[in-house]
Amino acid sequence: MKNAYDVAVIGAGPAGLIAAGRAAMLGAKVVLLEKMEKPARKLRITGKGRCNITSMKLLEDYLKEISPEPRFLRQAFGAFFNQDIIDLLEQNGVATKTERGERVFPVSEKAWDVAEALVNWAKKNGVEIINHSQVEGFIIENNVVNGVKVINSKSGIAESINCKCVIIATGGKSYPATGSTGDGYKFAEIAGHKIVSLRPSLVGIETKQVYKSAIGIDLRNISATLWIDGKKSASEFGEANFTDYGLDGPIILRLSRFIVDSKIAGKKVEISIDLKPALDHQKLESRLQRDIIELGKKDVKTLLKLLLPSLLIDVFIDILKISPLKPVNQLNGAEKKSLINLLKDFRFDVTGYRGWNEAIITAGGISIKEINPKTMESKIVKNLYFAGEVIDVDGNTGGYNLQIAFSTGWLAGDSSAKQALESI
Ligand SMILES: Cc1cc2nc3c(=O)[nH]c(=O)nc-3n(C[C@H](O)[C@H](O)[C@H](O)COP(=O)(O)OP(=O)(O)OC[C@H]3O[C@@H](n4cnc5c(N)ncnc54)[C@H](O)[C@@H]3O)c2cc1C
Repeated sequence: MKNAYDVAVIGAGPAGLIAAGRAAMLGAKVVLLEKMEKPARKLRITGKGRCNITSMKLLEDYLKEISPEPRFLRQAFGAFFNQDIIDLLEQNGVATKTERGERVFPVSEKAWDVAEALVNWAKKNGVEIINHSQVEGFIIENNVVNGVKVINSKSGIAESINCKCVIIATGGKSYPATGSTGDGYKFAEIAGHKIVSLRPSLVGIETKQVYKSAIGIDLRNISATLWIDGKKSASEFGEANFTDYGLDGPIILRLSRFIVDSKIAGKKVEISIDLKPALDHQKLESRLQRDIIELGKKDVKTLLKLLLPSLLIDVFIDILKISPLKPVNQLNGAEKKSLINLLKDFRFDVTGYRGWNEAIITAGGISIKEINPKTMESKIVKNLYFAGEVIDVDGNTGGYNLQIAFSTGWLAGDSSAKQALESI
């Protein structure tokens, strides 16, 4: 055994960096072990490289965006919330701004700046960060953890590191190329923890209907409604995209949180897109009637140009089976009705969802029933703590997942340091 530390943190993502920095701030001797060549690879690509750091919504609204049990996070959010991460970043050179929907971003619009600020803050507090350091397991004696087994991925040298407390902050299973390969679940399982089934979440949806000519369209100001076993289950308003496998984009990702579980349960899942959510059937009918009068003998394609993005026109003509050359004043009642219905209820049968390489987060994880919400300590192994996505809590898009990582990281760092320093 070498290098006795108070706290060893496994994984230098946002949760691990904050946990390590907080523990060191309290005077603990802290090592942060990261298996990749540099810390926070995933953080550096968040928010399409812009990093949606957090949300400025109020706590009660926040909790509505978190599953499966938002109350588990009350103490973590109480210890370190949205304004705290903003202050920490601002004090470390990253100015922030709040955009539409209360979403907070760095003014520089560079996720990289957020990652570097957290790394520098942790180092400034005295954290020793060791890259290329892959943790392979723990040393647990009489249900108390007191060390970690590490292998250096560059030199191949294996060693054991002695410590009083361990924080698992290894993240989920999505985007494995960033280093998040689900190692923490295995460690926790070996330590006796229950792992709630892991599912990709905030993920693109595969559909039976794929319209090749529409691939790449960004639909804005539309609404999407989820139908599960014929029952209306959820609705979202905003943006969606057509892809070569089905549907993607912000509102589809938000609906995916329900879709994945429904598909796993073998339910029939459909998505209905309303391309004209601002107009009800009657208003849309009047609008169509006005357009038809104005266009007179002009053709259906010209009418569709007024109603749809250009890449969707041929798709609509195919589905409606109306000649694009037909004069609009010759459209019969049934044809007008089917056009209105398609604009209001463009249906997709959901066949599946994308995998770990594309999912933004992992749903499921280490059961919260076996973690103390006041400290993030394991209820099974003493001095073992958890932080971040490895825990069975996940948030919607909008900055909630990073805030979960920051808040649980802070609380785990805080309580592990106090525990380690008390035991001196
Ligand atoms: C493309 C994309 C965009 C996203 N955008 C946003 C966004 O804008 N806003 C938002 O709130 N959320 C976003 N998220 C989600 C967010 O990035 C994650 O929820 C967050 O990074 C989780 O933090 P974490 O510290 O728990 O885990 P991670 O960030 O996954 O970090 C875990 C770290 O542990 C290391 N590690 C794993 N196993 C070991 C081991 N055995 N030994 C040593 N080290 C190990 C990994 O290499 C990694 O560095 C996005 C995710 C993706 C994939």
